[in-house]
Amino acid sequence: MLYHKIVEVREKIKQWKKEGLTVGLVPTMGALHNGHLSLIKKSVEKCDKTVVSVFVNPIQFCPGEDLDKYPRTLDADEKLCNDAGVDIVFSPSPVEMYPDAQMLSNDFLTYVIPPFFYTNKLCGKSRVGHFDGVCTVVNKLFNIVQPDFAFFGEKDRQQLIILKKMVKDLNIPVQIIPCPIVREENGLALSSRNKYLSEDDKVNALVLSKILFNIKSCYNEGMKDVKALTETAYSFLNDRHSLEYLEFRDADNLEEKTAADNNTIVFIALKIGNVRLIDNISLV
Ligand code: AMP
Repeated sequence: MLYHKIVEVREKIKQWKKEGLTVGLVPTMGALHNGHLSLIKKSVEKCDKTVVSVFVNPIQFCPGEDLDKYPRTLDADEKLCNDAGVDIVFSPSPVEMYPDAQMLSNDFLTYVIPPFFYTNKLCGKSRVGHFDGVCTVVNKLFNIVQPDFAFFGEKDRQQLIILKKMVKDLNIPVQIIPCPIVREENGLALSSRNKYLSEDDKVNALVLSKILFNIKSCYNEGMKDVKALTETAYSFLNDRHSLEYLEFRDADNLEEKTAADNNTIVFIALKIGNVRLIDNISLV
């Protein structure tokens, strides 16, 4: 069932709660692919009812980013959800979520601001305010849907760590379920933004996973020094790649590592032309 209005969702949720049913939420920005589908399948399996939100959240885009051209494929998304056994697809308009145009300015909207220590690094460094927008919209979705479980992909690992922290710090009664990264057979992590890549650049995009897989195998062979592990990446890069970061950080609190260990995540972001891609790997 496709709903655009908050009241419609609330009504249905109220009914389900009365019946004692558990509710799973899968927040997305749409243009759904098999990565999203893996989260959806987990929710359908685990919960009595599943809500998938499809909302390109304007307040998590920075000026000059791809808000206007972000792919929107609601009909196909709805079909994928129906086929997967989803109970509600919630696709609100920006006005439904932010009723006053004014609310799109942070002078007029109540924001949920995650801690600076978690947001002043990795993607938060170049996307200033991005995680404020994410935490705010996820909070709104939690309040609307009141899920027992919420499913997030490890593809956006910094986001996942920040949302776990938010839920803990604010005592939000929801359990976050992390879901592994779904990749193409060639290693490329699925992403709605892969649609922006030309055929040539799809090949160039393979360096993200190649770099990460290579680092993991060097680590498994005994290389622990982060500087040495970082240096293994450079031979993979060509003129088309503009590396934004390659960093080794703690899986729980994002602290920087100088020596890699089993609680380390390797994070990478790079641009190919105008397309910014991210990936990460756990060294466990
Ligand atoms: P998005 O629509 O990009 O905001 O993503 C919605 C959710 O799907 C987020 O929790 C993402 O981490 C997750 N997701 C996106 N791509 C993948 C992937 N390749 N594997 C696993 N989860 C993913």
